[in-house]
Amino acid sequence: MMLQTLREEVYKCNMLLPATDLVKMTSGNVSGRDPETNLIVIKPSGIAYEKLTPENLVIVDLDGKVIEGELTPSIDTETHLVVYRGRPDIFGMVHTHSPYATSFAVLGQPIPPVTTTCGLIGGGVPLGGFACFGGEAIGEEILKVIGSSLGIIMQSHGVFTIGKTASQATRVAVEVEDMAKIAHLAMLIGKPIILNEAQIAEVSNGYINEYGQKK
Ligand SMILES: [Zn+2]
Repeated sequence: MMLQTLREEVYKCNMLLPATDLVKMTSGNVSGRDPETNLIVIKPSGIAYEKLTPENLVIVDLDGKVIEGELTPSIDTETHLVVYRGRPDIFGMVHTHSPYATSFAVLGQPIPPVTTTCGLIGGGVPLGGFACFGGEAIGEEILKVIGSSLGIIMQSHGVFTIGKTASQATRVAVEVEDMAKIAHLAMLIGKPIILNEAQIAEVSNGYINEYGQKK
């Protein structure tokens, strides 16, 4: 089987979505792109998470042709492909309808940068306009609006996150939901303080330079 290591990573990332309460039933998906071949490993469409295995993930090329796999790829595959084609620097992508982030999406409001963890996302989470799921249009809207952020919420729909790896995009999906929840709760009792550009740059650098175990 092709791309076994990437299959394992994308499988683990997909399984983190229900484990971290970002998805219900069969919704949501994670993909990863192999830097050498540009092939994409993605969740099959409409399969329960408990039935997923590294082996039943689907491999498609950048044009959407199935290269390996018995199952139909995710309904959001074209969206992932548009983003991968437009962003050669991106090797992982996640889609969820996580509820706190999506509550901002249905209000038509971006998620404000209210906690220092916005440094993992690239600041606040911008809002993309309405586009039906599944097609190229939503991918084009993501490319147009996401800028230097690693996450975006799409109006009346949900969350897309990107990263240098599927694991990074998954981490960002968790952080987007967490920050949205805190912003949402804070807005119930008052007006949260929004971090300014200098503070966002400072916390972003903090994660890049200071966070985690030193080699
Ligand atoms: Zn969706």
